[in-house]
Amino acid sequence: MKQGIVADAHSHTVVSHGKDAPEAMIEAAAAAGLEYFGISEHSVLPQPYVCRMYREDMAEWMPLLLDRLEELRLTAARPRLLMGIELDWTPDRPDHMRRTIASRAFDYVIGSIHHLDGRLSVGSPASWPCSEAEADARFSRYYALMTDMVSSGVCHIASHPDFIKLNCFDMFRRWIRQPRNLARVRPALEAMKRGGVLMEVSSAGLRQPFAEAYPGPEIMALAADVGVEISLGSDAHSAADVAGKFDELAAYVRGFGYTQGVVLAGGERLTLPF
Ligand SMILES: [Zn+2]
Ligand SMILES: [Zn+2]
Repeated sequence: MKQGIVADAHSHTVVSHGKDAPEAMIEAAAAAGLEYFGISEHSVLPQPYVCRMYREDMAEWMPLLLDRLEELRLTAARPRLLMGIELDWTPDRPDHMRRTIASRAFDYVIGSIHHLDGRLSVGSPASWPCSEAEADARFSRYYALMTDMVSSGVCHIASHPDFIKLNCFDMFRRWIRQPRNLARVRPALEAMKRGGVLMEVSSAGLRQPFAEAYPGPEIMALAADVGVEISLGSDAHSAADVAGKFDELAAYVRGFGYTQGVVLAGGERLTLPF
């Protein structure tokens, strides 16, 4: 049996803005020696939300993808295929979120805060740097939203918990290092603990120029302290990134005392040591 992380719960296909078909992603997961592989395509956005990176015809392809995943889920022996969905937190459209997650028998729902104040939460590189005060307000609202999302019960996994740092890494690092700011993250982690929601630890950040997993060390340490369980994912948007940098990710999470991840499969909660 493969040592290390054997489950990758978060990936995308060509249906949203990934590069590869589900079959190629699954092949890559098998080649990487995974025992569980989750395809968790982005949810179709309700009006007036937009993400210009998504294919325009994503809404038409989505049901076909999910049909195909349901088929493959029955046939793919190894790795065991999981069908998740990465749901955008759109609190003013609870009807849309409810319909989306009820539309199929998903193994799990990954909740994501991609939108904040009517724009993408990560902003454009040009929207940073802003003043420290504005950054503080943006980061604080981001974690308030995360607390709301986790408390709402819509998701089983809270994705990339400091994704907002993508285009403002140095500014975010200065912010999160201050204990009073880390305290603003705590309610989201406590809500995860209370609701049994998993915190995702994602190797996607390791593929960025800043080479830091999501979340960074301060939030990791706090999550361990609060006792939040974790889900591990690559957020691969191409076959080449499936299980990407998982050895590095395993060493990273072990550094905070984590020795196991949780996988949600067919209503079961499986604990996988690494
Ligand atoms: Zn995401
Ligand atoms: Zn994703």
